[in-house]
Amino acid sequence: MTKLIILDRDGTINADRDDYVKSPEEWQPLPRALEAIARMNHAGYRVVIASNQSGLGRGLFDVATLNAMHDKMNHLLAQEGARVEAIFFCPHTNDDHCGCRKPLSGLFEQIARRTGLDLRGVPTVGDSLRDLQAGAHAGCEPHLVLTGKGVAFKGQALSRAFPPNTRVHEDLYGFSQWLLHEREQPAINAMNERISERTSDRFGHVAP
Ligand SMILES: [Mg+2]
Ligand SMILES: [Zn+2]
Repeated sequence: MTKLIILDRDGTINADRDDYVKSPEEWQPLPRALEAIARMNHAGYRVVIASNQSGLGRGLFDVATLNAMHDKMNHLLAQEGARVEAIFFCPHTNDDHCGCRKPLSGLFEQIARRTGLDLRGVPTVGDSLRDLQAGAHAGCEPHLVLTGKGVAFKGQALSRAFPPNTRVHEDLYGFSQWLLHEREQPAINAMNERISERTSDRFGHVAP
């Protein structure tokens, strides 16, 4: 099992904005998101980010400002005992017809090359359809969070455009719960299920 997690940034780790996150001041972490990354790290996972940053291509901010946002993020992560190893971003707009703007999978291919890891089965977490399409194209396991743009999916059945094995979580912390308690401990969960089945065999017919 490759212990790597690929996260979207805006709407997944920090609050998204309709007018783009353009400055360190506008980069505000979502509740419990940094703590969630710390939990992933403590469980032995390396964490990287794959993020569309078309605000660069639109001239809304420059690379120095993007670096300043990430300095802030890294500082806040460190305070939680958490670490993001690398940030892969697409600076292009739609008009550039690049290969790295999600839903295309160029960022994921960069991650595979840079880490030397096989991304098949690697969980990827995002708040929008295109995050999961990009990840699924690279063989990653898709996870949708209901924060950021994901709020629109609350209480909704996911459209068929989503990869069929998409799992849904309330937020990044909810994903970390799943990671640590479901993915990490399938043997223990299976054992507990067997125990509860046996218990209900024995006690299932007792009148309340
Ligand atoms: Mg997003
Ligand atoms: Zn690009």
